Amino acid sequence: MKRYTVICRPDPQSEAIKEKAIGELNEKGYVMDDRKPEIVFVIGGDGTFIYAVHHVRRLMGVRLGEVVFYGIHTGTLGFTMDFRGEEYREFMDTFFERKYTEIKYPLLQALYGDKVHYGLNEIRIENAARTQKLDVYINGEKFETFRGTGMCVCTQLGSTAYNRSLGGAVLQEGMDFIQLTEMAGIHHSKFRSLEAPFVLKGDTELEFRTDNFASALLGCDASVFPLEGVNSVKIHICPEVWVRMLRGRSVSYFERLKSLF
Ligand code: NAP
Ligand code: MN
Repeated sequence: MKRYTVICRPDPQSEAIKEKAIGELNEKGYVMDDRKPEIVFVIGGDGTFIYAVHHVRRLMGVRLGEVVFYGIHTGTLGFTMDFRGEEYREFMDTFFERKYTEIKYPLLQALYGDKVHYGLNEIRIENAARTQKLDVYINGEKFETFRGTGMCVCTQLGSTAYNRSLGGAVLQEGMDFIQLTEMAGIHHSKFRSLEAPFVLKGDTELEFRTDNFASALLGCDASVFPLEGVNSVKIHICPEVWVRMLRGRSVSYFERLKSLF
C-alpha cells in the first residue's frame, strides 16, 4: 500500500495535519497519487468522510473496493474515525506499524431509468414544493401509500445523521439493517401510513412509485438530483460495492454516540 491521497476539511487545524502527514509519508517512500490511490487519508469530520467516499467513488467507480480510507477527526469524536487531531502521533504510528483492522460500510443504491446514485448515510426522496404521494413497495409487495414531504432510507451508519433528526432510531454499530422514516407525513381521516420509523433487514428492496415527481429531488447524502419525469425509484443496499475503512483502535460505540449530543 504505497499510493495515497489526502482529503481534508478546509480549516487551519486540518490543513496543518495534512501538511505534516504528507511530509512523513513522502519521507517514508509513499507516493501521492490523487487519481489512483490505494489509501485515502481523511482529515476532518464524518461529513468529510462522506465527501471523500463520494469523491473517490466518482473517480474509481466499482473499483472503490480497491481503496481503504483512514481518518483523523478534527473536532468532536465521530463515527467514522478513531483518533482526534491531538492524537496525530498515535494515528500515524498505528498506520506505519500496521496495527489497524479493517471494517466495511455498505452503500445504498438508488436506481431509476439508466441512473444509479449512492448514499453512505441515506437516500431521501423529498419534495419541498407540494405534497408528494409515494406508493411504497417492500420486496415487490405493496405496503402503503405515503403523503407528505418525503421519505428517508438510511444505513446503520446514517442512523445518527438525518434519520435521527426525523425521529428515527439509532442503530448500534454492526447491525445489518436499513431504516425507512417519513418526512412530515400527513395522517388524518383520509390519509394513513405507518408513521413510525421502520427498521428493515439489510437485504430489503424498497421501491417508491408515483405518477408525479414534479419538483421532487433525490437526496443522496450531500447531493441532490431532480426526479421530474421519473415514475419509480428502487433503493437497496448495493451488494457489490463496499467502503473499506481502517480501524486504528477500538472506540466504544456509546462513547461516540455520547459525543454527538
Ligand atoms: P455536513 O455539514 O457534512 O454534515 C452535517 C452534520 O452531520 C455534521 O455535523 C456532520 O458531522 C454530521 N454527520 C454526517 N454524517 C453523520 C453520521 N453518520 N452520524 C452523525 N453525524 C453525522 O452536511 P452535508 O454535507 O450537507 O450532508 C452530509 C450529511 O449531513 C447527510 O448525509 C445528512 O445525513 C446530514 N444532514 C442532516 C440534516 C438534518 O439532520 N436535518 C440536514 C442536512 C444534512 P461532522 O461535523 O463530524 O462532519
Ligand atoms: Mn463531528
